[in-house]
Amino acid sequence: MVEKNLESMNDLVSLCKRRGFIFQSSEIYGGLGSCWDYGPLGVELKNIVKNRWWKAMTYRDDVVGVDASILMHPTVWKASGHVDNFTDPLIDCKKCKSRFREDKIDVNAPCPNCGAQGEFTEAREFNLMFKTQMGAVEDTASTVFLRPETAQGIFVNFPNIQSTMRKKLPFGIAQIGKAFRNEITPGNFIFRTREFEQMEMQYFVKPGSQKEFMEMWKEERWKWHVSNGIRPEKLRYHPHGEGELAHYADAALDIEYEFPIGWGEMEGVHSRTDFDLKQHQEFSGKNLQYVDQLDGNKKYIPYVIETSVGCDRHLLAILCDAYRVENPGTEEERVVMRFAPHMAPIKAAVMPLMKKPELEEIATGLYKELQKYFKIEYDVAGSIGKRYRRQDEIGTPYCFTIDYDTIEDRTVTVRDRDSMSQERVSLDKIVDFMRDKIRD
Ligand code: ATP
Repeated sequence: MVEKNLESMNDLVSLCKRRGFIFQSSEIYGGLGSCWDYGPLGVELKNIVKNRWWKAMTYRDDVVGVDASILMHPTVWKASGHVDNFTDPLIDCKKCKSRFREDKIDVNAPCPNCGAQGEFTEAREFNLMFKTQMGAVEDTASTVFLRPETAQGIFVNFPNIQSTMRKKLPFGIAQIGKAFRNEITPGNFIFRTREFEQMEMQYFVKPGSQKEFMEMWKEERWKWHVSNGIRPEKLRYHPHGEGELAHYADAALDIEYEFPIGWGEMEGVHSRTDFDLKQHQEFSGKNLQYVDQLDGNKKYIPYVIETSVGCDRHLLAILCDAYRVENPGTEEERVVMRFAPHMAPIKAAVMPLMKKPELEEIATGLYKELQKYFKIEYDVAGSIGKRYRRQDEIGTPYCFTIDYDTIEDRTVTVRDRDSMSQERVSLDKIVDFMRDKIRD
C-alpha cells in the first residue's frame, strides 16, 4: 500500500475546517488576520494536550501551578525588557507600501510583493506588544499591555509561591495561558498567530546547578512530545549558538518538529541565569532573594531553567504528524488521522448498521454506557462506509457496529481505524476493551 505524509499545509487547513477542528476567526466577516477558532474537535484535542502537559509538569513533588492574570502592572514589561527590546526591525516597500521584517528578507532583492528594486525605507523598530487602556481615562498612565508571554506572571509570583507553599530549591512553577504578539509576518495556519496559548514552566535552582537541570528538562520535554504520539524521527534539538543566545541566557535549545514548511521551533528550553528575578528585584524594590537553609542560610537569587512550549504549535505538530493519505489518486484513497488512541478527540463511534429500532435500542444503550468514561460519537446517518471514512478523517481509533447478529449473540463488530480489520467483541466486554486500548 502506498502511504503519504502531509505534504501541503493547505490539505490540513481544509481537513480542519471540513471536520470541525479549526475555523478562521470571525469567518462570516471575512476573517481576522492570523486569528483562529478551535471547533468542537479542536478544543477537545487542545484540552487533551493541556491536561497532559499539566499532569506531566505538576503532578510531581517539585513543581506547582499558577494562573496569573493577562493584564499586569506596566512596570513588569519595563523590568523584563519587553518595552525596550521586544521589537522586530520593519521596512516598507516605498512603492506598494507592503511591510516586511528586515531580518526575514534580502533588502537588496526586489520587493517580494510588487517587484520594485531598491525601494525600501530604513528599518524602524516595531514593538510586538498589544497595548490597551485600563479604566475610563485614555492617557499614557493608563496604558497596559496584553502579555506577550506567560513567564513574567510566574516570576512576579515567585516570593508568594515560595513562601506559601514552603518550597525548597530546586522547584518549579508552571502555567498555561494566552499570550499575544502583534506579529508582522504571521501565517502558516496556527504556526504563528497573534493570539496563542503557551505552556511555560520556570524551574528555580541554586546557581551553579543549572547545567544539570537543563539536561534533565531537555530529556523530560523530548519524552513528553513523543508520549503524545509524535514520531521521534520528526523531532530534533536545535542548540542555540553564540549568535543566537539571548544576552541573559547561558545556554538554550529548541525542540523542533519537521512541519511540511520545514523544521520549526515547537518548544524552547532556556537557562536564563538570575536575569529575570534580578530585574524584578531592581524595578520593584522588593527583596527576591532565597534563603538557603541547607547551605548556612546563604542568600541568593536563584537561577532559572525555563521550558516554554506553544500549545497551538504542538497541536499543529500533532495534526501534521497524524495526517496520512493511503493509496493517493486511486479508488481506494483514504485520508486518515493516525492519532495515538489516547490523543484522539473522539475515542470511539457507535453505529447501528441500519436505522431500525431493534438495532438502535442496543446501540444507544452501548453509547450511553461508553459515554460515562469516554468522549464518543453516535452516528446513524448514511452508508456504513461513509460513516467509517468520516471517523477516519477525525482520527477515531475504534468504531462499534451493531447488526442483526448482535441481537442473536450479544456481540458487536469492532473496526480498527489503522488496519481496518474487524473483530467481534462481546457487548459486555467493550468498556474493558476501550480501557485497555486507550491507555497511554
Ligand atoms: P519564534 O522564533 O518562532 O518567533 P520565539 O523564539 O519568539 O518564537 P518564544 O518566545 O521562545 O518563541 O516562545 C515559546 C514558544 O511559544 C515557541 O516555541 C512557540 O511554540 C510559541 N510561540 C511563540 N510565538 C508564537 C506565535 N506567534 N504563534 C504561536 N505560537 C508561538
